[in-house]
Amino acid sequence: MGIVEDKVKSCLFKIKEYNKLINAFIEVRDEKELITEAKALDSKSKKGRLYGYVIGVKSNICVRGLRASCASNTLKDYVSPYDATVISRIKDEDGLIIGMLNCDEFACGWTGETSAFGKAHNPAVPDHVPGGSSSGSAAAVSAGFCDMALGSDTGGSIRVPAAFCGVVGVKPSYGYVSRYGLIDLSMSLDQIGPVAKNVSDAMLLLDVIKGIDDRDTTTFDSKSLKIEKVGKIKFGMVTVPETDVRIIDLMATVLDEATVGLKWSEKKVALKYIDIAIQTYHPLVWTEFFSATRRMDGRRFGKKIEDSAGVEVLRRISGGSEISKAEFEGQYYQKALAVKELIKKEFERVLDEVDCLIMPTTPMLPWKFGTKVSIEHLYAVDALTIPSNLAEVCAISIPIGFIDKKPVGIQVVCAKGCESKMLSIALEIEKIVNPIIIKTQ
Ligand code: GLN
Repeated sequence: MGIVEDKVKSCLFKIKEYNKLINAFIEVRDEKELITEAKALDSKSKKGRLYGYVIGVKSNICVRGLRASCASNTLKDYVSPYDATVISRIKDEDGLIIGMLNCDEFACGWTGETSAFGKAHNPAVPDHVPGGSSSGSAAAVSAGFCDMALGSDTGGSIRVPAAFCGVVGVKPSYGYVSRYGLIDLSMSLDQIGPVAKNVSDAMLLLDVIKGIDDRDTTTFDSKSLKIEKVGKIKFGMVTVPETDVRIIDLMATVLDEATVGLKWSEKKVALKYIDIAIQTYHPLVWTEFFSATRRMDGRRFGKKIEDSAGVEVLRRISGGSEISKAEFEGQYYQKALAVKELIKKEFERVLDEVDCLIMPTTPMLPWKFGTKVSIEHLYAVDALTIPSNLAEVCAISIPIGFIDKKPVGIQVVCAKGCESKMLSIALEIEKIVNPIIIKTQ
């Protein structure tokens, strides 16, 4: 049996056995069709860079012939007529797409619980939230249902579930990956990115999907990703006051290891405006989401969104509609854009002084389903991820160990377009954290 055929059969077996518990996949391709495609890939004489990899896709990315439901009743039966640019690039390199993944409805959420298809579960900690909005992407990779997955990140939606489920997730710099074929939440912040078991796999998938695309004018050209010699890294550490001290302690253990073993050094940085990132993000998202959803009026795509979507989506649409009224012109959206610019400049200034910023991915650990959490607690989940989206820089979340058996992730954040450097630093950290992961498991 060929490599892909064998791999896809084993993925299908795991999905059949365990997806009912995890609910990561909401559509799996027909088995016969998958095996025929796997055999065709196995018999190719010249194989692409993703040969041998089985990949899942978040349900807000268009894959021809599969449902881009956005985990919403609004688009429940919407079958994509075309491939997103990232999907064509994956197929060109012989990656095998196995199916569509669960997520928060229209990527609006923090835990995966706003999905109209039922929540995804966290394979790393039973009964705990997997994080969102790319809940299915992180859960599927963590459960071994596929090798890699695509997610989308507007304010943390790749990195938060990656951290909660103990896998790697990358939010590329704004414009690094084409958004053509992504059903947008907020077009000035969204990026598609990889979720994988380790940094090398994430690097490979990112290298395939990245780069300029005529169909998305915000994309820019970038060199092939390569591992750089990082040497004695100078890093800045960033946290927010509400961060769980146990997370800060675990991060400090890792950084002590890097300081002693790798001769890295910390430089104190004062990153301004991080405390107003959440307040800046939501008016931008609400306004852009309201505008993006106007085409979902029940005529061309699925049902009318106002009649079919869940509460979080409706909250954002009504908020966005209010903010967009002529009488508020210049008051919210324009102001938020101006602050976004300040945050971008501030990151540029600080990332000029250090090689990277290191911060926890989330200020808290994943919590048990059913725990009463306030809306403030939910908003705070993204306190350390949103700033990178506003600043347009690249960020990766990597697992560093466990607290009370719950996975913890930290982020490495580098300047816009410095993905090779970010991944090379992450690879170094990945090497030193292995003993810590084993010890805290
Ligand atoms: N949790 C954030 C939100 O609800 C982030 C979503 C995302 O990145 N797609 O908006």
